[in-house]
Amino acid sequence: MTTETMDFISSNKEYVFNTYGRSPIMLVEGKGAHVKDSAGKEYLDFVGGLAACPLGHAHPVLVKAICEQAGKLIHVSNLFHIQPQIELARLLTENSFADKAFFCNSGAEANEGAIKLSRKFFHDRGEHERYHIITMKNSFHGRTLATLAATGQTKYRDGFEPHTQGFSHVPFGDYESLERSINPETAAIMIEPIQGEGGIQIPPPEYLLKVRKLCDDKGILLILDEVQTGMGRTGKLFAYENFGIEPDIMTLAKGLAGGVPIGALLATDRVADSFKPGNHATTFGGNPLSSAAGVAVLTEILSPGFLDRVRIMSGYLRSRLEDVAPKYSVVRLVRGMGLMQAIELNIPGADLVTMMRNSGVLVNCTSDTVIRFLPPLIISGQEIEEMITILEASLAKIME
Ligand SMILES: *Cc1c(COP(=O)(O)O)cnc(C)c1O
Repeated sequence: MTTETMDFISSNKEYVFNTYGRSPIMLVEGKGAHVKDSAGKEYLDFVGGLAACPLGHAHPVLVKAICEQAGKLIHVSNLFHIQPQIELARLLTENSFADKAFFCNSGAEANEGAIKLSRKFFHDRGEHERYHIITMKNSFHGRTLATLAATGQTKYRDGFEPHTQGFSHVPFGDYESLERSINPETAAIMIEPIQGEGGIQIPPPEYLLKVRKLCDDKGILLILDEVQTGMGRTGKLFAYENFGIEPDIMTLAKGLAGGVPIGALLATDRVADSFKPGNHATTFGGNPLSSAAGVAVLTEILSPGFLDRVRIMSGYLRSRLEDVAPKYSVVRLVRGMGLMQAIELNIPGADLVTMMRNSGVLVNCTSDTVIRFLPPLIISGQEIEEMITILEASLAKIME
């Protein structure tokens, strides 16, 4: 380790909360799917800011939009009308099931809004006991108290008792146990169309269709957490389009403004109307800067050919991972959708992540044994090939 590396590691320890297991590098600049660390070493970025950088780094359209908006107006508060916010809401609703959008600052905050909105919806109808939300085991919805209670993984919840009440968890993909858990208190089912932090878990065929039908039959709201799967990640603008369903409420964040913090809560008018002036608010949400960034990102993703290209690159990445998998016995399987792909190992993934980083490729390990690939949506075939070469070399080395 260089002295400079030792320096920033020790200052991090001294000044910053010790909440993350960070890699021992500091990234200082990037361009497209490449980033550079403080020692000048370059990496191919298959972490993509944890799916928050769909346009990669320093994308000229996004940089221009942010700089121009910063020069005009960064923030004013929601006491006033905000032109880029209206524009972003128009683009999102015209291209989704939703009629209205509310903006906030993160995925957890968007999910908090969804939880509050579904409670208010039934409260307004006089069904005051109907506030219970069913979520999935192995899910991830955020780190605030309510979204932690929604998250179906005890490792995140332990130590923060008492948990916010009104949540229960059923196995993801198991329709029968979901159906059995419905009772007169059930207000909503909240689900990630594909579980991201939970290891890129794809639901069984027809599952989401059946969940939608169950919600319709029982008058329950369907909340889709598309914080990770939205914004073109699966090859469609929103993941639900792959499954032939529409939600009543959807949450977005991560990729929405290309790395500028933002979250969004989208809903049909029937549901959105439950929030009246004063019911829900946030100081920064949908401010001119983050909204202008969102407009630039969404306009780019919606531009002709963009999502076609994402689908082509998705197919390419998937087929190359499938070529690699059978050659190395530590790889159990490949799974994913779009540019949200993973290989599951039969050993912990941390060493492979380190080896690949040393060879110049950044990937992330989730759920202990799952290597997750979340490249920027602008990734090229040649860059995928470079990653595959290093993946193979690292797998070979780990099996020595
Ligand atoms: C990342 C994530 C969240 C939390 O988003 P934050 O911006 O970190 O609060 C919620 N849901 C899903 C599906 C996520 O992937």
